[in-house]
Amino acid sequence: MSAKPGFHGVDILLTSRWPNDIAHNNQGPVPDLNWLRQCPGSQAVAKALRPRYHFAGGAVFFERSPYRNHGAQEAPVNVTRFLGMAPVGNPVKAKWIYACSIVPRSEEDVAKLVEQPQGTTDSPFAGNSSFHFRTPLSKHAEHFLTLCCVARGLAPVTQENCWFCLGSPKVEKHLVASVSKDVYLALPKGQLCEDHVLIVPVKHCQSTLHLDDDIATGVNEYKKALRKFFAATDRDVVFFERNFRSDHMQLQAVPVPRGLSDSIELAARSLASRYQLQLDTQPAGTDLNELFEETTPYFMLELPSGQLLIHGISGRFPLQYGREILAHAQVLNCPDKIDWKACSLDKEGETAATKAFREAFRPHDPFLKKKAVAE
Ligand SMILES: [Zn+2]
Repeated sequence: MSAKPGFHGVDILLTSRWPNDIAHNNQGPVPDLNWLRQCPGSQAVAKALRPRYHFAGGAVFFERSPYRNHGAQEAPVNVTRFLGMAPVGNPVKAKWIYACSIVPRSEEDVAKLVEQPQGTTDSPFAGNSSFHFRTPLSKHAEHFLTLCCVARGLAPVTQENCWFCLGSPKVEKHLVASVSKDVYLALPKGQLCEDHVLIVPVKHCQSTLHLDDDIATGVNEYKKALRKFFAATDRDVVFFERNFRSDHMQLQAVPVPRGLSDSIELAARSLASRYQLQLDTQPAGTDLNELFEETTPYFMLELPSGQLLIHGISGRFPLQYGREILAHAQVLNCPDKIDWKACSLDKEGETAATKAFREAFRPHDPFLKKKAVAE
C-alpha cells in the first residue's frame, strides 16, 4: 500500500484482529497476549494508514502507550493510539467501551496533530522507521521519497530548496566566509562566541557518514586550518555535529579557551545524565562509519584532545545539546546563547561578523594559499 499525494493518514481504524507485535516497545504493563491470534494483515494496514486511533476487538482490554509513526530523521507526524477492546458485556467487566472526542484531521491544527505526548514510544513494528536519505538515491528510492514527502505535505529537501547547498537560492551568502571546491565555511545563525563557524559540504550531503573522499578531504583541511588559526590566538577548538533532524551536514567549530577538555567532557556528561543519553568515548581519529550504519542518527563532539564523545540517537534528543555543552558555566558560560534564535544578529551584524572572521582567518585559509601558489 503506498501513499497517494494528499494522503496524510486516517483518524480511526477498526480491525477485528490485533496487529502482530502491538505490545512491543510498550511502556507499562502488558496483558498476556500469547494466546491471542495476532494478525500480520492488521499490522500492515496500521502501518500504511497511520491511524490516530486504532481499535481492535474481541479479546482483552489493552490501551497501548501512543507510538510514533515517523523515523528519527523525519518531521513528526501523528502518533497512533491503539486500543484493544474486551468483548461486549464480558463477565469480568473488562473495558469494552471507550469514549473519545476527535477533531477530524482535516480541521485539526497541524501542531496539535503531530503532538508527541509524554510516554510516546517507538513504533512496535519492526522496519517502521520509514525512509532515510541515502546517497546516491536509486530511482526507486527517489520516487518513494517524493511520495513519502508529498504524503506528509512536505517538499523533499533537494539542492534547490536546501538552506545549506551552496547552489541553492535559499543559502544565505552573506554568512559564507571561505569556499573551496567541495566544502565551505559559514557563520551560524547565532554564534556561541566570536569565530564560531560551520564546516559545510558545497553539495547536498547529509552527514559525516555520507561524505565521499573529496569532501572528507576538504572537511579535514578546514579542520586542520581552524585548529591552527585558533592556536595562533591561544584557543582550542571543539567540533560537533548533530545528524538528527538535519538534512545537510554542518560540522560546528567553536573556539574555547585552552585547557578545557575535561570541563567540556564533564559538562557533556552531566547534561547527558539529565537528558538520559548514553555518551560513549572514542579515541581520536575514530571513523564514524565504523560506529554507525549510514541511516543512524547520532551526536558527535570532538574534544580539543581529539577524543570523541558519541551518542547514537534513538527516540528523544534535545536538539540544542551541543550548544548547551559549550554554553555551560564551566565552558563558555553563556546560557543566554543556548537557543540560537535568542542571540542571532540582524543581517548587518551577520555581515560584519562574517567579514571579521574572513579577515582573521585569511592567513590560515588552506584554499586561498593554494590559489596564491598556483598563480
Ligand atoms: Zn543541501
